[in-house]
Amino acid sequence: ESWISMPKIELHAHLNGSIRDSTLLELARDLGEKGVIVFADVEHVILKNDRSLCEVFKLFDLIHILTTDHATVTRITKEVVEDFASDNVVYLELRTTPKKNDLIGMSKRSYMEAVLEGLRAVSAVDIDFAPKNMDTTSPMTAITKSNACNGTIKKKIYVRLLLSIDRRETTAAAMDTVKLALEMRRLGVVGIDLSGNPNVGEWTTFLPALEFAQQQGLQVTLHCGEVPNRKEIQAMLDFLPQRIGHACFFEEEDWIKLKSSKIPVEICLTSNIRTESISSIDIHHFADLYNTKHPSVLCTDDSGVFSTSLSEEYKLAASTFGLGKKEMFELVKNAIEFIFADVEVKQDLKEIFNLAAKKWD
Ligand code: 5GP
Repeated sequence: ESWISMPKIELHAHLNGSIRDSTLLELARDLGEKGVIVFADVEHVILKNDRSLCEVFKLFDLIHILTTDHATVTRITKEVVEDFASDNVVYLELRTTPKKNDLIGMSKRSYMEAVLEGLRAVSAVDIDFAPKNMDTTSPMTAITKSNACNGTIKKKIYVRLLLSIDRRETTAAAMDTVKLALEMRRLGVVGIDLSGNPNVGEWTTFLPALEFAQQQGLQVTLHCGEVPNRKEIQAMLDFLPQRIGHACFFEEEDWIKLKSSKIPVEICLTSNIRTESISSIDIHHFADLYNTKHPSVLCTDDSGVFSTSLSEEYKLAASTFGLGKKEMFELVKNAIEFIFADVEVKQDLKEIFNLAAKKWD
């Protein structure tokens, strides 16, 4: 399938939403055997495909019961990166909510260390997950070396991390996440995301932490307009985040503000349809953004939860909006401009896309 072979850029992927069904089932079976959960009760929840936005957040609470110990966080990180790489994603911005759980001795920092361990464990592909000439203590260099020795060229994927603030969190907890992100900058953390149930929490709770993040040079992306909320959408756009996700419940006034600000939009077609945020794909706002050349890019959101892949998203957009190979290639290539990684990574990606261009023009 040709959309798989096209190099792609993924900018909106939640770690715990991108887990393979087979892994979730295996984890559920293990916890079932230990008597922590009843496997039969959760099996159908994991495999069920149509879920409203509300049900999605219930599912995440279940997924977090299954995944939140250090070893499992490491495992799912490795698998998720390898899955994106095998779909020919060449640059992945992976976002995850650092979690604190005193019962198992987990701090937000140790959670993130488990994520980094997962990045180091990636072996199916060559991975670049930290800015050059920064951290050389990781086994990354060893992987690159063994790669060069056996003469075969492995696929390469760039991975950068965004730390998510959950809308259930307090100002202080949000601030802890931003401080952790700042400490982890040399380890490939490039920004902050605001996500979680859009019916929970107030914008003013998160604003101080997000302002601090921007002042310190972190990039910020916000889940914006997932539910109708005039005031919040306007306040979010006034904040001038570096990107936003979704933009489903925008009204005229919001579109005008968005378009004059040129803030790029992360579009998640399958997610919006599955959660019924958009009633029908052919009226999705991606068409207007594309036609008016507003910066936007296709993303998966939660490839596990919504049973999709980035190739599937490109296929869906191409067939729904009548776009050809060349147009789709241009769309993904233009996203290089709004990734959160540094200019060196942008330069490398430009080369990768220029090399691939012959096939797609
Ligand atoms: P995690 O951050 O635990 O790795 O990934 C799962 C979390 O991402 C969820 O608990 C939720 O906070 C956030 N998330 C995943 N998908 C969505 C979505 O479609 N909308 C919003 N607002 N948050 C999401």
